[in-house]
Amino acid sequence: QADERESLYLVSEFAKTYFHNTLLKTEPGKAIGLSYFKERGFTDETIQKFELGYSPDQWDAFTSHAIQKGYKLEFLEKTGLSIVKEEKQFDRFKGRVMFPILSMSGRTLGFGGRILTSDKKAAKYLNSPESDIYHKSKVLYGIYLAKQSIAKEDNCYLVEGYTDVIQFHQRGIHNVVSSSGTALTADQIRLVNRLTKNITVLFDGDAAGLRASLRGVDLILEQGMNVKICTFPEGEDPDSFARSNSLEELTSYLEEKSQDFISFKASLLASEAKNDPIKKADTIRDMVVSISKIPDVIKREVYIKECSRIMDISEEVLFNTLAQLLQKDA
Ligand code: ATP
Ligand code: MN
Ligand code: MN
Ligand code: MN
Repeated sequence: QADERESLYLVSEFAKTYFHNTLLKTEPGKAIGLSYFKERGFTDETIQKFELGYSPDQWDAFTSHAIQKGYKLEFLEKTGLSIVKEEKQFDRFKGRVMFPILSMSGRTLGFGGRILTSDKKAAKYLNSPESDIYHKSKVLYGIYLAKQSIAKEDNCYLVEGYTDVIQFHQRGIHNVVSSSGTALTADQIRLVNRLTKNITVLFDGDAAGLRASLRGVDLILEQGMNVKICTFPEGEDPDSFARSNSLEELTSYLEEKSQDFISFKASLLASEAKNDPIKKADTIRDMVVSISKIPDVIKREVYIKECSRIMDISEEVLFNTLAQLLQKDA
């Protein structure tokens, strides 16, 4: 089993180098892939750092090349790089720009591939399927390049997408990782928990981003970590915002707009349904549910007090609700 995993690592490493060289050294790679990345504002240095690549727009260019180099079809198929159908072999990532996904220790586990055409039927991003080396619920894109900075800054920015991570790096913010489209999991948070107790969730300025950041909050609190949320203007994501603002502007935006989860939920209510008593009650209950996830008793009390103050409701009621919730969980 260890041997087989090793074979999957080797073929993934080979693919990363192949896609990267194809981007930089072949005509279609340069004309299509490289110019796409340049249009997104990525510099040569950034492209090198993230080992970005391009998969040729041919049915089996990568697969044939790999087989010719002695890689076994069995392992190409198990990593999902190749698809075998009716005795024929196909490249999964045909015609896509490639984002290699690395483990905490820098091994290549899998890939994300972005489509370049505006074909509405095809998925914008395609990921490697689950394999013995790639478990999407246990990896965070960018963790290898971010880990030192996360420890040093004692904070981790969590974003939605590959390009958000990359654009932040290029602007000079390195403590950033992405859940890459999967709903955030406890295992992903555990990876960060080894490096810092502080997470700032930066999701896209759209309804999906908002929902995703709300879902993440309780999971982060459960692990005894501190969570802040920072939203972006509608239609923006961390990538577009970082691209159109200087490092100073970005840093001050992050500082000014990051809120703890109580004020974040309060401001959501304020923007959605200011004076609706039922919605207000729901929000308060939801806040107490979040507070009940916090393992530390002192922090729970501090947040109850904050909730009481912000929502203008008695601490007594909140403490009673908290006690009921804790009893239910026990
Ligand atoms: P871009 O700026 O390249 O258009 P994005 O990163 O802003 O992409 P979003 O639509 O905000 O894309 O999605 C966030 C993340 O969710 C993506 O980076 C990707 O990891 C994942 N994702 C998006 N669309 C899909 C899809 N169709 N299939 C699988 N994963 C996806
Ligand atoms: Mn989005
Ligand atoms: Mn986005
Ligand atoms: Mn984007």
